[in-house]
Amino acid sequence: MTSEPADVVVVGGGPAGLFCAARLPADLTVVVLERMPEPGRKLLLTGSGQANLTHEGDLAAFLGRYGDHGRFLRHALRAFSNKALALWFAERGLPLETRPDGKVFPVSHRAGDVLGVLRTACSERGVQIVCGARVRSVERTDEGFAVQTDGASWYAGAVVLATGGASYPGTGSTGDGYRLARAFGHTVEEPRPALAPIEPEPYAFADLAGVSVPGAGLRVVRDGRQVAAGRGDLLFTHIGLSGPGVLDLSRDIRPGDQLLVAFTQEVPPEALDARLIRLCDERGAARLRSVLAPLGLPERLLRRLLAEAGLPEDTTGARLDRDGRRRLAGVLGGLPFTVSRLGGFSVAMATAGGVALDEVNPKMMESTLVPGLFFAGEVLDIDGDTGGYNLQAAFSTAALAAATLGRRPVRV
Ligand SMILES: Cc1cc2nc3c(=O)[nH]c(=O)nc-3n(C[C@H](O)[C@H](O)[C@H](O)COP(=O)(O)OP(=O)(O)OC[C@H]3O[C@@H](n4cnc5c(N)ncnc54)[C@H](O)[C@@H]3O)c2cc1C
Repeated sequence: MTSEPADVVVVGGGPAGLFCAARLPADLTVVVLERMPEPGRKLLLTGSGQANLTHEGDLAAFLGRYGDHGRFLRHALRAFSNKALALWFAERGLPLETRPDGKVFPVSHRAGDVLGVLRTACSERGVQIVCGARVRSVERTDEGFAVQTDGASWYAGAVVLATGGASYPGTGSTGDGYRLARAFGHTVEEPRPALAPIEPEPYAFADLAGVSVPGAGLRVVRDGRQVAAGRGDLLFTHIGLSGPGVLDLSRDIRPGDQLLVAFTQEVPPEALDARLIRLCDERGAARLRSVLAPLGLPERLLRRLLAEAGLPEDTTGARLDRDGRRRLAGVLGGLPFTVSRLGGFSVAMATAGGVALDEVNPKMMESTLVPGLFFAGEVLDIDGDTGGYNLQAAFSTAALAAATLGRRPVRV
């Protein structure tokens, strides 16, 4: 088997790998090895095919969107921010726009256009993208690294592992990078599905599949103690609860936890009780469904919540007694769901866990154990909220790895 030289071998042709390759200095020979027949399969699925590339907000706002691991990204996000990303794509003929909710998409709303720009940038830079090349091993040699696929091998001055996480394995991200990193002695924090829907047991809301509730209040209770809370859009599905609010909170949810869903903005129970009294006073003769219309809940959901509270359809505002109001406040302010399981890697949009951050230099994206070995993207122990935070992390870590390599003699 022949062995080809490359100054830098990038393992993985997702957004992190392609972006890193495209930004490496032009005098370096760069090869991207991608196991799938085409690069960027997962990228094409992002944002429902529209690619929610990043989010508005400053550095401080971003750092709070990656659970406890945001600090690691400080340097990467500072060196290559959401604004730099928008500029980079605009300069290549793909302007971005910010939606009212802060999410940033290409104006064309096509993930395929994003991939197109990345591929063009690679090709203009002279990057060789080799598809159908699953990397089986990467080893240190006297001169650099030996990278082995099924049918070929490369020797390289530096290697960037950009193999992604383990979610949506059909896109090629099956967690290979964890094995490759472990072989170098790197610690890999247990990979877990993140941004995953939850499946409660029992679940009596399958008939509400498709109903969404904007700005639902969500509280996670474990052993009687609240362990996490948030507010965001909730979606009922056939088998459980999804939507950005639930997905963002999923990194803090474990099987057995109780998820309490509030369908109103009032937080203390007294505030909700006072509002219900006011609404009933205003429209005493009307049925509860009309009385509660100002809450803005979907009609089907409201009917179900009344049933959950044991209130007959024809109950009027005037006939709602204190006990009924207490039951109604209970379901509106904290309907409990016992989490049986979280959606697995086949439905999770990201992977929590990954290459341990304390073994990667956050100012360079280089391994602290193996000089010349770099990491970019979701292979790292980083998972962001929904809204563009994961792709921004992939682009920013990739840009930082490329910038570090640009300051190094890595030629083979
Ligand atoms: C349905 C869905 C929707 C999403 N929507 C959004 C969104 O709108 N906004 C957002 O910010 N994030 C979104 N994400 C998350 C985002 O897609 C990922 O965080 C991002 O793709 C990570 O980029 P990456 O380059 O690190 O990894 P990947 O995109 O996973 O790319 C890794 C690449 O490496 C290749 N590879 C793996 N192992 C090997 C190997 N051994 N040899 C060679 N190649 C290998 C894989 O085939 C793959 O092409 C979404 C995810 C999903 C699943």
